[in-house]
Amino acid sequence: MLDIITVPTPSLRKRSKEIDHNFLVLEETQQFIDDMVTTMYEDDGIGLAAPQVAQNIRICVIGKEAIPKKHHIKGDLILVNPTWERISKKTLWDIEGCLSVPRIFGKVKRYKEIEIKAWDRNGKPLSFEANDFLARVIQHEVDHLDGVLFIDKARDLYEVERKDSRL
Ligand code: ZN
Repeated sequence: MLDIITVPTPSLRKRSKEIDHNFLVLEETQQFIDDMVTTMYEDDGIGLAAPQVAQNIRICVIGKEAIPKKHHIKGDLILVNPTWERISKKTLWDIEGCLSVPRIFGKVKRYKEIEIKAWDRNGKPLSFEANDFLARVIQHEVDHLDGVLFIDKARDLYEVERKDSRL
C-alpha cells in the first residue's frame, strides 16, 4: 500500500501542517486516509501518522484494537488536526515501539488521562476523553505530527529480531 518511512528520514522530524476543510474533503485526501488504515493493518501497526507515510499533514489513524467499546466508535479512529490536554497529572510508563523505528522498543512515560479535540474524517469536531492505552497511542501519534519520536523520550531501549505490534 503506502511505504512506511523510517529513521533517519529528515521529514519524520518536521512539524506537520494543519489541514483545512476543503483539503480534507478532496477525494484524494479521503483515499489517502483509507490507504493509511490499510497500511497500518498490513504492517501490524496499532496507529499510524501521516508523516510516517511521507505526508507532512496532521492526520493520524488508530486501529480498533486500541479503542475501548465505551467510546462507541465504529471501526477505526481517524483524527484530523488533533490536539490534547492532560486531565490529571497521573502518568504511566509502558513499552512502546514504532513502525518508523523498526525493531526498537523502550519504556515511555505518558499521561494516563487526556482530553482530545480533533476533526473526524468529514471535518466534524470531535471531543472525548481517553485513558491508559488509547491515551498512550494518541500521545505517540500526535508526537509524530510534531516531529517527535518515542525514542526521544524512552528509557531502557532494546532491539528485537522479529517484528511485533507497533504504534
Ligand atoms: Zn510511531
